[in-house]
Amino acid sequence: MSSLSSVHPSDFPLSFPDIRVKIGEPLPEATYDNLPQLMNAYVSHSYNRGYGVVLGYKGKANKLGNRTIYWCDRSGKPRDRKDKTLDPSRKRANTGSRCCDCPFKIEAQELPGGRWRGRILNEYHNHTASEETTSHPVHRKGRLDADGEVLVKQLLSRATPVSTILEQVNNQFGLRLKARDIYNLRAKQRRTDLVDTTAIQWLADTLKEQDFFVEIDVAEDNPDRVTRLFFAHPESIKLLAKYPDVILMDCTYKTNRFNMPLLNFCGTAGNNMTPQICLAFLSGEKEEDYAWALKCYREILAQYDIAEPKCFVTDRELALLNALDKLFPASDHILCRWHVNMNVVAKCKKNLKTKEAFQEFYEAWTAVVESETLEAYEGNLTDFKKLNSTAVNYCVKTWLVWKEKLVCFMSKHVFSC
Ligand SMILES: [Zn+2]
Repeated sequence: MSSLSSVHPSDFPLSFPDIRVKIGEPLPEATYDNLPQLMNAYVSHSYNRGYGVVLGYKGKANKLGNRTIYWCDRSGKPRDRKDKTLDPSRKRANTGSRCCDCPFKIEAQELPGGRWRGRILNEYHNHTASEETTSHPVHRKGRLDADGEVLVKQLLSRATPVSTILEQVNNQFGLRLKARDIYNLRAKQRRTDLVDTTAIQWLADTLKEQDFFVEIDVAEDNPDRVTRLFFAHPESIKLLAKYPDVILMDCTYKTNRFNMPLLNFCGTAGNNMTPQICLAFLSGEKEEDYAWALKCYREILAQYDIAEPKCFVTDRELALLNALDKLFPASDHILCRWHVNMNVVAKCKKNLKTKEAFQEFYEAWTAVVESETLEAYEGNLTDFKKLNSTAVNYCVKTWLVWKEKLVCFMSKHVFSC
């Protein structure tokens, strides 16, 4: 590789806009039959020389004809992909940009008669030649022909893992594609699928084609922006018809890149299983969001002639509790003891210095919650209140205000029906 470098390798990949590096001898000015042929000539020339050539922009047509600018694949301003609002647990490592505002530029000028002339406008780069040809996307996928693309698309449509696709395609075609190339092909395929429709319309159509129950809510000012999505698989609805009595609901977070909470409805089958019945992506956790999801749920019950649940089990989400009271006033409601205990452990452990103290506290709390009669409850509560006051206060103020929905003897009638 012939590279005249004036930058020390340890400085790579910082950008040095003022430094001029000539990477090999540039391709002499020439004319070509058409634009793809011209592009191919420059891409092939950069191959194995340690840089890549990509389309920059379409220039303004002049009196000779159209004009297109190609440039180094490290042209463009370095992008800061660090999203300040993103939760740290969701940040991806190594997403630094390769771009360093490289000035290398090629002009493609259409000539009267349809031929194209290629000439280099700036032959200098501001970085050294790269060591790996495969670090340039244009050199990796430039060699995947139409047959290869068809194969990748077939494998993708069968939900083949990307690692398997890479292995098969690279072996069969003797390539060195990377996972990123496959993701890009998948994105390209999606864009083709989405012609004439919006992404969410496509999703709704696809779900409906597969007999899902689907409800969509869109923003008032923009019908293309979906604010809520509710869906249920037909097999899940059959299960619900069989076991309609107890429904567990809870929200999970960080489920998609729009940070929409996902409300999960689970049933309770006889064998201690809690099969998932339906799901709702919501725009927030306000009462109106929960009410919308519950209305969709009610719509399923009406459409399939299914009985209303006798009882809902949830965590302590006030907005959800209010929505339930309004939309299902005849159904009982209890708090999920597992969720409650997870919260009690998380909040109280720090107040109890030793393992023994925590053990004593947790046993007393369990006794309160599992009280079978009013007398037992009052006795257990008196014992419980003698323990660490901060932890006890938390439990009393946060959870025992809901004692009808939590303590055994008070919520038991729910299950005796
Ligand atoms: Zn460059």
